[in-house]
Amino acid sequence: MSKRDYYEVLGVSKNASDDEIKKAYRKKAIQFHPDKNPGNKEAEEKFKEAAEAYEVLSDAQKRQRYDQFGHAGMGGAAGGGTQWSGNMDDIFSHFGDIFGGHFGGFGGFGGFGGGGGNSPRYNRGADLRVKVHLNLQEIANGVEKKIKVNKYVACSHCGGSGAADPSGVSTCSTCHGSGHVTRVQQTILGAMQTQSVCPSCNGDGKTITKKCPHCNGEGIVRQDEVISINIPAGVGEGMQLSVSGKGNAARRGGVTGDLLVLIEEEQHPELIRDENDLVYNLLLPVTVAILGGTVEVPTVDGRVKVKVDAGTQPGKVLRLRGKGLPNVNRYGHGDLLVHIGVYIPEHLTKDEQKLIEKLNESPNVKPNGSASKSFFQNFRRMFE
Ligand SMILES: [Zn+2]
Ligand SMILES: [Zn+2]
Repeated sequence: MSKRDYYEVLGVSKNASDDEIKKAYRKKAIQFHPDKNPGNKEAEEKFKEAAEAYEVLSDAQKRQRYDQFGHAGMGGAAGGGTQWSGNMDDIFSHFGDIFGGHFGGFGGFGGFGGGGGNSPRYNRGADLRVKVHLNLQEIANGVEKKIKVNKYVACSHCGGSGAADPSGVSTCSTCHGSGHVTRVQQTILGAMQTQSVCPSCNGDGKTITKKCPHCNGEGIVRQDEVISINIPAGVGEGMQLSVSGKGNAARRGGVTGDLLVLIEEEQHPELIRDENDLVYNLLLPVTVAILGGTVEVPTVDGRVKVKVDAGTQPGKVLRLRGKGLPNVNRYGHGDLLVHIGVYIPEHLTKDEQKLIEKLNESPNVKPNGSASKSFFQNFRRMFE
């Protein structure tokens, strides 16, 4: 069964604000709450479905992933996405959060998925993940890609501070602006100092007394932005580039996350990539293999003419130096390897039949000892 779109589940638009998502979830949760619908399996499913949608859309990083990749982006498994693993208890802790009114802000729900330790909370925006499709020519030459993303940026009204005006910020009285608190404990080894994130300001060092109305004091807003990404030549399928400082802005002037660019490589219709080399399988007419001639071979930058010697054997490999791909680390350059095959005609007219029969009487069409040896050596090379 295919999963429903999370936005559709909650009945909100793709551009819904965090507040709209929260309200929509609250409505669904009340409507399908098991207490109100005892024994109703369908309502229970709907309740779970809404909780799952809310879990993703209420978390900046998860929502970003979902927007970019859909359900497939929500888990490591190929294709099908993941089943929501939560149970009813999780949903109720969810529920408590919502009705208790202490909405956890952009860090997501503290309780969901098991709380972490006491590691200091470092105010950094979530990384933004995008996929970029590249064709072989773009990979060979490097390319600048412009991508539209929906992400958190610093609120322009308050400059990301979250305060309505400069007088709306005061230094945190608990930590005096340092963002952490130090405790001294007496132990059998003597006095021990422990440092932890200031519980009053969550490490900001500041307290917002007058919130900016445009961002509700968070210092960030969600909006579309076009990001330009420079892809170096020689990248490959599955590589990930990291562009620092181009991800989601952090709340109240923290450190902006990174932009992570996943490379997806389009198959070239004729050329096969083998690391930095390219391989082309060239099928020659038997007459050209015998007489020699000029043939066209595709490269990433268009077709080139290649001379074929008279008496070319199938299995021979021509190496076009430097016609492969540049190394992504900027040293060296791959080659284009032309693997030669020979096409033996399958259907002949009577006249053609006569020509071949006549040729068959000629002593030179029979392989001699050395020719057959080199032919099979060629083949062996192909499978090494
Ligand atoms: Zn603001
Ligand atoms: Zn503080």
